Amino acid sequence: MNKPKLVMVGNGMAGVRTLEELLKLMPDFYDITVFGAEPHPNYNRILLSPVLSGEQTLKEIMLNEVEWYAENGITLHMGKEITEIDRIKRVVRAADGTEAPYDRLLLATGSNPFILPVPGKDLDGVVTFRDIRDVNLMIEASQKYKKAVVIGGGLLGLEAANGLMARGMDVSVVHLGEWLLERQLDRTAAKLLQQSLEDRGIAFHLQKQTAALLDNGSGRVGGLRFADGEEIPADLVVMAVGIRPNYELAEKSGLYCNRGVVVNDTMQTYDPRVYAVGECVSHRGVAYGLVAPLFDMAKVAANHLAHYGIGRYVPAATSTKLKVTGIDLFSAGDFMGSDNTEAITLSDPMGGIYKKLVIKDNKLVGACLYGDTADGAWYFRLIREGKSVAEMRDVLMLGEGGQGDVGHSGQSKVVGMPDDAEVCGCNGVCKGTIVKAIQEKGLFTVDEIKKHTKAASSCGSCTGLVEQILINCVGGAADVKPKSEKPVCGCTDHNHGAVRKVIREQHLTSLRQVMDFLEWRTPDGCATCRPALNYYLISTWPGEAKDDPQSRFINERVHANIQKDGTYSVIPRMWGGVTNAAELRRIADVADKYAIPMVKVTGGQRIDLLGVKKEDLPKVWADLDMPSGHAYGKSLRTVKTCVGSEFCRFGTQDSTQMGIDLEKDLTGMWSPAKVKLAVSGCPRNCAESGIKDVGIIGVDSGWELYIGGNGGIKTEVAEFLAKVKTREEVLELTGAFLQLYREEAFYLERTVHYLHRVGLDFIKAQVVDNLENRKALYERLRFALSFEKDPWTERVKEGVARHEFEPLTV
Ligand SMILES: Cc1cc2nc3c(=O)[nH]c(=O)nc-3n(C[C@H](O)[C@H](O)[C@H](O)COP(=O)(O)OP(=O)(O)OC[C@H]3O[C@@H](n4cnc5c(N)ncnc54)[C@H](O)[C@@H]3O)c2cc1C
Ligand code: SF4
Ligand code: SF4
Repeated sequence: MNKPKLVMVGNGMAGVRTLEELLKLMPDFYDITVFGAEPHPNYNRILLSPVLSGEQTLKEIMLNEVEWYAENGITLHMGKEITEIDRIKRVVRAADGTEAPYDRLLLATGSNPFILPVPGKDLDGVVTFRDIRDVNLMIEASQKYKKAVVIGGGLLGLEAANGLMARGMDVSVVHLGEWLLERQLDRTAAKLLQQSLEDRGIAFHLQKQTAALLDNGSGRVGGLRFADGEEIPADLVVMAVGIRPNYELAEKSGLYCNRGVVVNDTMQTYDPRVYAVGECVSHRGVAYGLVAPLFDMAKVAANHLAHYGIGRYVPAATSTKLKVTGIDLFSAGDFMGSDNTEAITLSDPMGGIYKKLVIKDNKLVGACLYGDTADGAWYFRLIREGKSVAEMRDVLMLGEGGQGDVGHSGQSKVVGMPDDAEVCGCNGVCKGTIVKAIQEKGLFTVDEIKKHTKAASSCGSCTGLVEQILINCVGGAADVKPKSEKPVCGCTDHNHGAVRKVIREQHLTSLRQVMDFLEWRTPDGCATCRPALNYYLISTWPGEAKDDPQSRFINERVHANIQKDGTYSVIPRMWGGVTNAAELRRIADVADKYAIPMVKVTGGQRIDLLGVKKEDLPKVWADLDMPSGHAYGKSLRTVKTCVGSEFCRFGTQDSTQMGIDLEKDLTGMWSPAKVKLAVSGCPRNCAESGIKDVGIIGVDSGWELYIGGNGGIKTEVAEFLAKVKTREEVLELTGAFLQLYREEAFYLERTVHYLHRVGLDFIKAQVVDNLENRKALYERLRFALSFEKDPWTERVKEGVARHEFEPLTV
């Protein structure tokens, strides 16, 4: 029997997705022919940006290789542009004369980049940013020329600018608007973004209209002239000023078009045999330019082509993010807000964080996040679900983690996600689809999940979540690489251990040296690798490697803990949890003077002043005249003590004094993750030594040391390390273990995880059995600490990093 013929024009993301959906529903129903003007099979256009910046290769972004078409019986014509549709004879014709008859036609011709109609637009060296050809042209130009100008400060323009800069060009961005990305960001977030891009070396010309592109005398672009007469030089000009639906072919064939091929809710054009999907479409007067809505259209069109006849395209909120490594920016829904919406904002310009949540009728309708986008997917889910957020309003800004237990390593977060919650935004894959694929196809790796569902196969930012779903479904059978084998981040293929080793063996003392030596893929790293490298450098080469504040998280940069409302908490050091009347008086005075709303005793026996304004921090520290409690850092936090033999009738040892001695010995110690200690005066263990990184318990004949305890989300009981007699031995053994941890653990690895990774026997061999090694470790710790100064004193008396506390005007 002759199968009906389906012809698709446009071999891009929306069209091929429609075919994939159709093949799932009706694998053998049609005889399918595809025409694509580009000489490539379907690739992930979204990832042209990382290809331009050198972070990915063309091969890596192919979505459907030529074999896929053959395996599915699809006739593929690459490099053939359809120039005519004869709707009477039901035939399409390509520029080279190739013809194909159809019973159903699917138009998926995408968009064309808009070219500014200015003199000089046809000069050599003037390109757009739409396809592989454009990217190749830009890469070639970057090898020969120096100055690039990108016209357009939208997502595409900024990604082009970043890519060209990564290729070594001097890049300027020209933008007509008052601020960058005005369709995605409000002014405050845009200013923060501009500043980070300027810090990377990109120059901006805002509110500038391009009047002409200038010839360099040999037919190539040599510069730009603005409407105000100013001229700037350019060897390459990228026009990224928007896209226009590509509906010329449809219009020529008599289909009704109005700024796009007009379709109804079933993606049918005015000719019922002809369907259209993707950016070429105008649905209820709207044309879309992001993949998520196009993939929804693909599902609907496939459903109707398969004669199921039940799908309707209903537009949903969309989200966007900027794919520039190291810059976190996310926006979704109606983030600008209007007269009848309310906005909750958190603005920390100095910390580089800005968050705005827009609420209407108790529902979240928009979100704009800059600097910390970890909760973007969760906010997006709330926007799409449209449920009331009235109950969680006061903690909404804290993100999903602020709503209660999210579980160890995020597993219970995954359990709580409904099946229809979107996991991969780029490819529109929900949790249910992933779980089904894991169960039905017997998948055990993230790579297999990528292959079967496409989740995590685009920008990759959902990989962690996909991994958690896998672990949740198949438990220990999940073939997930341990952290020790995983690359530090997407900027490199090297794992933490390898990076530490190279820093040590090659005597590398700066981020630049590490990135150059290990051929980092990104010019400046990202928010994941920079703090890790900074820690590895300063812990390996104390006194030599310079601490890089820009590679530290906000809390460590300002030496205080940021709170949910953008204020800070200040915890001064109280050695061993002991204070006195004079200190308490000063604390009380500070609380009054700076109208500090809450003064609280912490679980670590310290006093916390909550609600301090950032600009008040240096004054508060000066008035307190106490050292920093480091309660904000990956460092020694507190040494908790019980009252011990001085006052307690059960006490066998002076635990308070031992706690004070330890705290004084270790203060200022940076570590891979936070470190907490406790000392109890007898086995009754009132200071909870059994759940601390190092717990010490006094016994009749001396002290017992325990390591690797943790009282966090998952309680871990510390393991017995050794028993010693004297105060000096306690200090040396504790210091030696912590130095071993500092030298060997991976960034963000708590002592318990380090202990599980290397084993208790290894640690004992290093610090208990080998006395010489113990001493050497302890001496290295003392040497490292000899460079540490109290950060509050430095800022108060020496004016260090004053700019951090002076508000920026944005
Ligand atoms: C650099 C870049 C970054 C992007 N980043 C993101 C992002 O982060 N997130 C996001 O959601 N979206 C992003 N997009 C947008 C996304 O890529 C598009 O929305 C999506 O590719 C559109 O799919 P489509 O199938 O409609 O069009 P396309 O993918 O453009 O496919 C259309 C195809 O049809 C072909 N064609 C046109 N006319 C004819 C003809 N007459 N005959 C034969 N073939 C023809 C074209 O050559 C083209 O290959 C980005 C786009 C670019 C260029
Ligand atoms: S969320 Fe992007 S947003 Fe997804 S990895 Fe999936 S592919 Fe990207
Ligand atoms: S641990 Fe022992 S010494 Fe310390 S307070 Fe408790 S009972 Fe007293």
